[in-house]
Amino acid sequence: MSRFVYADNAATTPVSREVIEAMNEAFVTAWGNPSSQHAKGYEAKELVDSARESIARTLGCLPAEIYFTSCGTESDNWAIKGAAMRMREKRGRTHIVTTKIEHHAVLHTCEALEREGFSVTYVNVDSDGLVKMDELEAAITEKTALVAVMFANNEIGTVEPIAKICELAHAKGALMFTDAVQAVGNVDINLRELPVDMLALSGHKIHAPKGIGLLFIRKGVVINNLIDGGGQEKRKRGGTENVPYIVGLAKALEIAKERLPELDAVRRRRDRLIDELTGIPYSKLNGSRTERLPGNVNIGFEYIEGESILMWLDMAGICASTGSACSSASLDASHVLLAIGVPHEKAHGSIRLSISHDTTDEDIDYIIETMPPIIERLREMSPLWEDMKRALAVK
Ligand code: PLP
Repeated sequence: MSRFVYADNAATTPVSREVIEAMNEAFVTAWGNPSSQHAKGYEAKELVDSARESIARTLGCLPAEIYFTSCGTESDNWAIKGAAMRMREKRGRTHIVTTKIEHHAVLHTCEALEREGFSVTYVNVDSDGLVKMDELEAAITEKTALVAVMFANNEIGTVEPIAKICELAHAKGALMFTDAVQAVGNVDINLRELPVDMLALSGHKIHAPKGIGLLFIRKGVVINNLIDGGGQEKRKRGGTENVPYIVGLAKALEIAKERLPELDAVRRRRDRLIDELTGIPYSKLNGSRTERLPGNVNIGFEYIEGESILMWLDMAGICASTGSACSSASLDASHVLLAIGVPHEKAHGSIRLSISHDTTDEDIDYIIETMPPIIERLREMSPLWEDMKRALAVK
């Protein structure tokens, strides 16, 4: 293997050295229980409090609006189930609006609520993956408890117009939740200006460890508990705090914010990849060219299987994905690609490369030189490619 290139940062990221160093203190010294009424407990509580304050400064919100969770999936579940149940109890609202391209953490949560008697409208997106705003507006009614639209899509990187969607939700008295797991660190999020009621994020997408996330719940918004237990997180999410991981999340968010100006360089590398890879015959970019996460490249290659491309890339030392890491073990075509109108057979030939600040120009060069021969060799082995060539010859 001549080189190793990690281009699957939308699946997870390596924990950064600064984050590990920040977490070490909590592991080694501040190992007390933050609820304990003694010096060891106070020491741990102080770390949790200062992490919460730091995150509030980074996101532009109040420390009391931050609730630590175990991951993005938990935050999504809590926001949606907690808000839906509360709005049904207090206001008789039993309808949820979401989109067809949400992560399964949102889609399966909505399906669970359908089994509890809620109705859910899954709004369509256009061929770029942008929510159809007229459909969304028409879907929101006086019965709508919650509008849940992701900030940025994990497969094709489309960034949605969240501020505008908030306006539409609020005009009908519905709450607005956004899953910002992929957006954080890639988009400047200021909760003082963006009027979402709730926002979910996850540590492991921004160089903090797996197993830590948070849910922002705006002051004045009340949702039901998901995890009942002790008095942690203002009695709303029980469970002894994961102090080192909370410290790590705060550090990772601080660094991600500091590095936002460097995203132009990531964007330039992404665009070079897109330009070169879409130069391969019978290939096409999936998603928007402009409203796109800085590190996301998702390309469909006709007549071959995404899984085979991944295998060959892996043998060449390149880590990529066919889309969402969570669904890549299944053979179903991506629901996101189908929703933007990519036909089944083309959806199966799509791969996602997600680059980061750590991806170098040399890494991009290596992907660009490695990919065309792989595609060519796979096509040579593909019966579909043979059929296509024969059909062309007949014409
Ligand atoms: N939401 C989106 C958009 C994601 O991309 C992911 C993970 O891939 C999640 C939610 C789930 O986050 P976690 O892995 O922290 O549970």
